[in-house]
Amino acid sequence: MTAPLIDPFARAITYLRVSVTDRCDFRCVYCMSENMTFLPKKDLLTLEELDRMCSTFIRLGVEKLRITGGEPLVRRDIMQFFHNMTRHLESGALKELTLTTNGSQLARFSDDLYAAGVRRVNVSLDTLDEKKFAEITRWGRLPQVLNGIDAAQKAGLRIKINAVALKGFNEDELPRITEWCAERDMDLTWIEVMPMGDIGNEDRLDQYWSLNDVRAEYEKNYTVTDLAERTGGPARYVRLEETGQKIGFITPLSHNFCESCNRVRLTCTGELFMCLGQEDMADLRAPLRDHPDTEEPLERAIRAAIEHKPKGHDFDYSRQKVDGQMTRHMSHTGG
Ligand code: SAM
Ligand code: SF4
Repeated sequence: MTAPLIDPFARAITYLRVSVTDRCDFRCVYCMSENMTFLPKKDLLTLEELDRMCSTFIRLGVEKLRITGGEPLVRRDIMQFFHNMTRHLESGALKELTLTTNGSQLARFSDDLYAAGVRRVNVSLDTLDEKKFAEITRWGRLPQVLNGIDAAQKAGLRIKINAVALKGFNEDELPRITEWCAERDMDLTWIEVMPMGDIGNEDRLDQYWSLNDVRAEYEKNYTVTDLAERTGGPARYVRLEETGQKIGFITPLSHNFCESCNRVRLTCTGELFMCLGQEDMADLRAPLRDHPDTEEPLERAIRAAIEHKPKGHDFDYSRQKVDGQMTRHMSHTGG
């Protein structure tokens, strides 16, 4: 039997997030600058290489695969990759195949995703106001995303909305977004904005809206009960008693959750980041490309990398300045 991946802090690594492209059809202001330089195509892992990479992680005990980016659904032929992963769901080695998307291409791909075995999709959506949506995504159009969400629900995909809590931007929309999710039977998770990458003229501290304040906002209108439940991810959950709705909070800044981290992140060029908020990474593309006929060197490189998984990130805004800033954009490591 293959030994599982256990890091130096006794955390079992069972969750891999894979960025399949750094490109995107949006330019969200907290994620990218307007003029991004993207990686040359030759640096990207091919779909076959992505398959070998993911299959090796699955053999080493990864049970959950989340495909992300950039926008994963703008990568050419990406459905082929999803369909290739179906075999691991069928064998039982993989428990969940899922993705995080901006929703722009869901109208095209939802049926195909369902056919490949995807059952849950995270859609990132920070506002229900068309003008504000165009402002925050720079290039996005809200109706296209709402159509995509409709198509996904029709296809049988369960949707979770991820909203980045942004001061002065969606504070006033908390009730509306919450009710909209309840009406459509979608889960909702709020995320604190993290200092990932240079984003041009935007100021992180101006953007930061602590989820302690979001919770306090809920408490004005609802009875908020803490739930013990953890889903293996960083979110903590509460229930709004009046609607029965479950709301998630991902709080890298106001409440560090690294002690229970079970994940690592693969970039589209085959770098393995053991932590979203640290610079340490291992190049897995070389052991993969240099040895087309055996996965042993890749396996060794993965094990060596996991032995260097750091204890946690150093993001901190508490001194009224941004500490722990990463030079990489979220779209590089995969959100
Ligand atoms: N394009 C897809 C999407 O938007 O869902 C997948 C990639 S995107 C980088 C993944 C998630 O990261 C999105 O929910 C996005 O809102 C979030 N994100 C991007 N930059 C962030 C930042 N600086 N802080 C917190 N979340 C961020
Ligand atoms: Fe694209 Fe997602 Fe980043 Fe927005 S958050 S620019 S949709 S990768």
